[in-house]
Amino acid sequence: MPALVCSAQNCIYNNAMYCSKGDIKIGGEDATVCQDTRCESFQERKRENVRSSMGMPSIDTDIKCEACNCRYNEKCVCHAEHVDISGAAAHRSGETECVTFEEGR
Ligand code: SF4
Repeated sequence: MPALVCSAQNCIYNNAMYCSKGDIKIGGEDATVCQDTRCESFQERKRENVRSSMGMPSIDTDIKCEACNCRYNEKCVCHAEHVDISGAAAHRSGETECVTFEEGR
């Protein structure tokens, strides 16, 4: 299970750069660069949904990933040791990206 660090602090699951969702989904089926990937589990934190983010933040996160051109992708599961998700100013999934992506399949 990859160690995940995420800068998308507007997400309901983000707790001090760690994800409290436990498992996430990365989109970007045809991605050849990291900008073409996105965290599809991103949900913008709003007053009405704050409660649902109360999971425990964890460094280890299960990652299902559609970016099958990535060298860490095996059968849509991420096998990278460490994954960085960026999106410090993100308000929607499309404004996040997996900066660990490396084309190489
Ligand atoms: S490192 Fe590669 S396989 Fe892992 S989540 Fe990012 S794009 Fe997907």
